[in-house]
Amino acid sequence: MAKIHPKSFQAIVSLFYRINGLDVFGMYRWLLEMQSWSSQKRSEWRLKRLEEIIEFAWNHVPFYREYWGDHGVQYTKIRSLEDLQRYPVLTKDVFRANASQVSADNLHSIKHRKWHTGGTTGQPVHYNRDLEQWTLAEAFHLWGWSQTGYVFGDPVGVIAGGSLVPERMSFEARIRSKLHRRLFLYGVVMSPALARDYYHRLRKHNAKFLYGYPSVLYLFGKHLSELGLVYDGLKAIVTTAEMLLPQYRDGIEHYFNCPVFNNLGCNDGGYESYECSLHDGLHYNDLQSVLEVDNTDCEGQGRLIITNLWNRSTPFIRYENGDLVTLGDELCSCDSSFPLISSVEGRTADILTFSNGQSISGPALTLLFGSMEIDGWQVVQTGPNKMEVRICCRGVMQPQYVEHIHNILGKHLSNEVDVNIKKVIELEKTSGGKRKPIWSEYDIYEKNEVSGPGKTDNCTSN
Ligand SMILES: [Zn+2]
Repeated sequence: MAKIHPKSFQAIVSLFYRINGLDVFGMYRWLLEMQSWSSQKRSEWRLKRLEEIIEFAWNHVPFYREYWGDHGVQYTKIRSLEDLQRYPVLTKDVFRANASQVSADNLHSIKHRKWHTGGTTGQPVHYNRDLEQWTLAEAFHLWGWSQTGYVFGDPVGVIAGGSLVPERMSFEARIRSKLHRRLFLYGVVMSPALARDYYHRLRKHNAKFLYGYPSVLYLFGKHLSELGLVYDGLKAIVTTAEMLLPQYRDGIEHYFNCPVFNNLGCNDGGYESYECSLHDGLHYNDLQSVLEVDNTDCEGQGRLIITNLWNRSTPFIRYENGDLVTLGDELCSCDSSFPLISSVEGRTADILTFSNGQSISGPALTLLFGSMEIDGWQVVQTGPNKMEVRICCRGVMQPQYVEHIHNILGKHLSNEVDVNIKKVIELEKTSGGKRKPIWSEYDIYEKNEVSGPGKTDNCTSN
């Protein structure tokens, strides 16, 4: 692409967004403006917003009236953030079992889109997402990226799952990717041959930043190092979607000789968080959601509970998304008014490596199952070149799901890897009783925690 001044890029992209009714840059300016507000003014704004969304959920989402009523809660005006704790937690299992009903009765008057996530715990979640909520999330992404030294228009290489199937990437997503100067490379599998190919493509794109899954970027760097290739000149790498384990951060920094910034969030519930240059936790957008932590241990870590202040098409009120976090007590010394998540746990999966040198890792696989109406899934390596996809669902498994999985995996994995898809009535859990969507029964070389099922549990707990 010809050289265009970053400001011109920004103007073009801004126009593109506004044509689509999404004023991302306007929202970004608003976020910056809010940084100068006093903490009292900010708290008052959040409380008012919280009052409004709870009242909305009570008036327009029959599910909440019933669910809260079942827990003995009647709506009364929220007067403090503590009042929120009167409302019951909505676990992911309960949400999934009632997903179609957790929807506003005046949906036609709310600009929204249907959305789904593959579920890092192996359970797809379907919901609606307000366009305004999407716009705010994008604006916060701009803030997060600005922490890395990124200037709008800088070329970025993305190594991630995306929509998995190229032809499924929407026209709008293609344009956005071009305008953001993002080179999209599939991070579904990684191998020495792919690493070499990506190295040359990123060089041609002159990528100054990389964005992708920690496990995949780590493997990419490792393969490059073994091939004697050095990708220098990167300003920063942003990792997302799964735990940035210490060995991944150290490895990525070592292989690419640049700082790593972690980004974590989830669209169901709706929160986003980014590290600043102090790398002392993840700043989250408290103007987007109220975050609480339930069942904390002695170090303050517990289950994350999200109340989204914007999404009305599917309100998320005290939604438990499965992440284990610790919220920071104090503001970061970088002076940003976005508070900190000081630690995150969960979202780990083994890297499955086959004897032909191909590796496959977690986040891309979670996207594969997102559109399916199933109760859960698990991908298990069962031999040097064998993997099993286990689908837990009620009734007969839809043949198009089997075809879809074979198609996608066939595109990315060589035919030396034998993929067996089967329906199961139970999914196995780790010895600690956790859901683990991707793991190996075979001796692999990148294992992230002691895995292997210890006990089984009926996956249809909802
Ligand atoms: Zn900071």
